[in-house]
Amino acid sequence: MAYKITDECISCGACENECPNSAISEGDSHYVIDPSRCTECVGSYSSSRCSEVCPVDAPQPDEAHQETKEQLLAKWKTLHPGETPNV
Ligand code: SF4
Ligand code: SF4
Repeated sequence: MAYKITDECISCGACENECPNSAISEGDSHYVIDPSRCTECVGSYSSSRCSEVCPVDAPQPDEAHQETKEQLLAKWKTLHPGETPNV
């Protein structure tokens, strides 16, 4: 499932450039994740990069966007045409 960024976000910006899918951007009140680009890092890393770098644990799985690993990998492939997934 895609991740979301909760209100805990302090807008430090640390996660933005860590996302392999350019899914993170600065929103009105805090940073936000585009669920159409978030693969839970499937295809690039074995765990969620934004969660790992966030100092306040603001990125959390978004229950509203349930997806299988196969669906996440298919999403990754559309975002990275011609590339080979790492995970
Ligand atoms: S979980 Fe991975 S793909 Fe999703 S927003 Fe975070 S860094 Fe990007
Ligand atoms: S790393 Fe955490 S606190 Fe910093 S912008 Fe990203 S979600 Fe917000």
